[in-house]
Amino acid sequence: MARYVLAIDQGTTSTRAMVFDQSGGVVSTGQLEHRQSFPRAGWVEHDAAEIWRNTREVIGQALSRADITRHDIACVGITNQRETTVVWDRATGEPVHPAIVWQDTRTQEIVDRLAADGGTDRFRDVTGLPLATYFAGTKLLWLLENVDGLRRRAEAGEVLFGTVDTWLLWNLTGGPDGGVHATDVTNASRTLFMDLRTCQWDQAILDELGVPARMLPRICSSSEEYGRIESSSLLRETPVTGILGDQHAATFGQVAFEAGESKNTYGTGNFLIVNTGEELVRSEHGLLSTVAFQLGTEPVRYALEGSIAVTGSLVQWVRDNLGLIREAPEIEELALSVEDNGGAYFVPAFSGLFAPYWRPDARGALVGLTRYVTKGHLARAVLESVAFQTRDVLAAADADADEAAAELKVDGGMVANDTLMQFQADVLGIPVVRPRVVETTALGAAYAAGLAVGFWSGLDELRDQWSEDRRWEPRMERAEAERLHRNWQKAVRRTFDWVD
Ligand code: ADP
Repeated sequence: MARYVLAIDQGTTSTRAMVFDQSGGVVSTGQLEHRQSFPRAGWVEHDAAEIWRNTREVIGQALSRADITRHDIACVGITNQRETTVVWDRATGEPVHPAIVWQDTRTQEIVDRLAADGGTDRFRDVTGLPLATYFAGTKLLWLLENVDGLRRRAEAGEVLFGTVDTWLLWNLTGGPDGGVHATDVTNASRTLFMDLRTCQWDQAILDELGVPARMLPRICSSSEEYGRIESSSLLRETPVTGILGDQHAATFGQVAFEAGESKNTYGTGNFLIVNTGEELVRSEHGLLSTVAFQLGTEPVRYALEGSIAVTGSLVQWVRDNLGLIREAPEIEELALSVEDNGGAYFVPAFSGLFAPYWRPDARGALVGLTRYVTKGHLARAVLESVAFQTRDVLAAADADADEAAAELKVDGGMVANDTLMQFQADVLGIPVVRPRVVETTALGAAYAAGLAVGFWSGLDELRDQWSEDRRWEPRMERAEAERLHRNWQKAVRRTFDWVD
C-alpha cells in the first residue's frame, strides 16, 4: 500500500518536491533554486528547461531522503508559480523562448494598446481580471508578436502554450512522446482567456486577441487523474492527480474550504485569498475574482484575491542590490537594531502597484528621510511595507464582504519573521495565526492529489489535520497603528504617475 503523496511545488525562486504522510506531515523535501534573469529593466525570465531538470532532480532528492521508491507514492500533485508563460515545440520539447515570469512588465505596451479600446476592464466581466502585464495572456501575445514565425507555427499546431503546471505535466507524462497537454481551472483563470462561469476558453476573447486555440491546453478540474508519469522517471506509472496554482494550493492547504475562509501567503509577493464558495463575487475594491478550486466534477468554488507584487522580493533586493544583508532572515536582526521606522516609508512599487491600487504607472519610493535614518530604519520600513500592503488588501476584502475578518491565517517563507508577524497583527488590529505545517502550498497540492485517489476520505479529514502553531495578538495602541498607516498611504500616493 502506498503510504505517501508527493507534491511538486514549482515556485518563483525554487522548485521543491515534498513527501507527505497520511497525517499531512512532511516526510522529506528536495529543493533547488533556479536562475533569475533580468535581461532589461522590467524583464524577468526563467529557463523552463532548467526548471524541468530541477523538478526531476528534487523528486529524486525527496525519494532518497525518505528512503522510499515509487511504490510508496500513491499519487503526485503539482503546484506552481502562476501566470509565468512557456511556449515550446511539440515535437522536440524545446522551449521557443525563456519563460516570461509573472513579475515581468514588458507587456505594458500591449496592455496599453488593448486598453485603448474599451479600457483595462474590457475583459473583466468574463475573466474576473483587469488587463495587466501580470497575466499570462499578455505574455503569450508578446511571444506571438516577437518570436520569429511563432504565430504561423502556433496556427500549424507545432507549438504549445502552458503555464508552469502544464509544462511540468506535459514533461512528466511523456513530453514529445505523448505528454498530456492540460491545465487546471485555477491556472487557466489567470490567463485572461478563460470564462470564469463556464471555466472554458472564451472563443470571443481568443478571436479578438488572435490567439490560436489549438496551442492552448485542455482545462481540467484541480483534482482528477490527468495522466501517468512516463517510463524513464523514478516515479513511472504514478498518476498525477492534483494541480493548483500556488496561491490556490495554499488556500487548500490552509483548509479554507468554505465561503468566508481565507489565507495570506508571504513569499516573493503576497497573496490574500478569500473563498467565496459557489458564488462568483465581483470586487468593488480592487481585488480579482478567481477560481478557488474545483474537485473533480463538483461545482467550481470561487475566491477574491488581493495580489501584491513585491514583498519577499524586496528583502531579496535589499540583500542582492543593496548588500545590506547576506541572507534574507538577517533583515529581522537589522530591523531590531532600532525602535521604529524613524519616519521612513518604503513603497516597493517596482512593477507598479497591484491590488488594490492597480497602478502600472507607479514606481518605488523611499520617503520620510532625514539625517536620522539608518539602515536599521530602512530594514524596518522594508518589513513594514509588507504589513501595510497586506492591510490595504485586507481592507478591500473586508469592504467587499461587508464584514471584517476576525483573524488572519498566514503562511509562506516570510512568516518565520517574528517581528514582521507582530507588526502585522499590530497594524491590522486582529490576531495573525500560523499553522503547524507552513508548507501549505505543497500540502494543498498533495491534498488535491490525494483526494482524487481516495488517499484521504474527504474535506473533513483534512480539516481535522490543521492545527495552530503560533498566534500573534495586536499589542500596539490603535491610534498609533492608524497614524502609521495614514503615513503609509501618503507615501503610496507619492509613487503614482511616475511612468508616463
Ligand atoms: P516563493 O514560494 O515565492 O519562492 P517563499 O515562500 O519560499 O517564496 O519565500 C521566500 C521569500 O521570503 C524570499 O523572497 C525571501 O526574501 C523572504 N524571506 C525568507 N525568510 C525571510 C525572513 N526571515 N524575513 C524576511 N523575509 C524572508
